[in-house]
Amino acid sequence: MKRTQVFMVGFLPLIVIGGLFFPLLGYLVVAMMVFFLVLSFFKGRFWCWNLCPRGAFLDLFLSKVSGQRSVPKIFMKPWFRWLIFVVFISFVVMRILQSGGSLIALGAVFVTMCVLTTVIAIILGIPMKHRSWCMICPMGTLQEYLGRIKEKKE
Ligand code: SF4
Repeated sequence: MKRTQVFMVGFLPLIVIGGLFFPLLGYLVVAMMVFFLVLSFFKGRFWCWNLCPRGAFLDLFLSKVSGQRSVPKIFMKPWFRWLIFVVFISFVVMRILQSGGSLIALGAVFVTMCVLTTVIAIILGIPMKHRSWCMICPMGTLQEYLGRIKEKKE
């Protein structure tokens, strides 16, 4: 059990439950995204394995009830992962445009995104490997890509 995960896991209920009542908590998601995107240039998916609140939740809690069955092979295909990325980003951009520039509505977009992806992560992680979602998570895909760019430059 990683201490960083024990500390970070609390952010998940804060955002997915607290965010329903206080949408501005969605900006925590934005702050985390900026942080891990910068971090990924230097450390690849370090965020995913050590700091991500949802990753920590999956490791610390969902792993206890997960059936740990293999994920479908399609989850490993780059084209499928990038398809999920495009669908996800399109959905977020569409919701941002619909927010009309309201700070609260904008925060709610990121809370919704976090709730939705957490529900999907739980649905996938119960029958299959507890980190199944992480294999297709758009943010994980992006971090991996950015980490590889840095490796190629070295
Ligand atoms: S893949 Fe996504 S959900 Fe999983 S640990 Fe990384 S950022 Fe978090």
